[in-house]
Amino acid sequence: MLEVKGVSTEYDGISILRKVNINIDKGEVVCLLGANGAGKTTILKAILNIVKPTEGEIYFQKERIDTLNTHDIVKRGIANVPEGRRLFPKMTVLENLQLGAYFEKDKDKIGTRLEKIYEIFPVIKDRLRQEAGTLSGGEQAMVAIARGMMGKPKMLLFDEPSLGLAPKIVDDYFSIIKMINTEEKITILLVEQNPKKALSVASRGYIIQKGKIILNEPAEELIKSPIIMNAYLEN
Ligand code: ATP
Repeated sequence: MLEVKGVSTEYDGISILRKVNINIDKGEVVCLLGANGAGKTTILKAILNIVKPTEGEIYFQKERIDTLNTHDIVKRGIANVPEGRRLFPKMTVLENLQLGAYFEKDKDKIGTRLEKIYEIFPVIKDRLRQEAGTLSGGEQAMVAIARGMMGKPKMLLFDEPSLGLAPKIVDDYFSIIKMINTEEKITILLVEQNPKKALSVASRGYIIQKGKIILNEPAEELIKSPIIMNAYLEN
């Protein structure tokens, strides 16, 4: 479904990603693990063409997308759940959700999607008129996923969803990621610094170190890997 082929990027002439290759099949949950500053977020930005690759190609459902602008990439069915949620704090929860369906002009379809969201996240239904900035961290995290789902994506990119969430909420969050994958059939690329949690929902993972992919293994292998144990295992 997604193929990142030999992608490199630079910031101000400084090399960040170095010939990164990532393949994700339809229906998979794949995680991307690595230390601070390894280049995880930059990979997500390259997929959405927020950062333009200096070499390499990216394909989504066999169509080349690194030549498209972000708007058109999102239209193809890739949605992002950014680090730190990035809700619009002064807008209501409902308005934030509606923004996620920006490309859908059919009001009935938006209504059907909202109903689906309320089914998955019942807490959201009670908060629709509330300013998003007044929600708890856990509630904001749910709204951020829901907003991503409002565009009916085929693939969701998650950037460090566990960051700043209480442990109990993190568990709920990862269960929701798994459920979205199995029940809503959304393919998932999950960027994480918490390998234990990420590998509990992913079937496969890539490890990135200083801009290079150094491992691509099934989750059950990665969890035993000394690289994970030594460098990344946080809890
Ligand atoms: P983190 O977990 O800290 O978010 P990451 O693996 O997601 O780390 P990136 O955000 O992709 O890392 O950053 C990779 C490298 O690129 C880092 O060295 C970072 O300082 C640098 N970088 C990121 N954004 C910019 C920018 N806009 N300008 C210059 N350098 C940048």
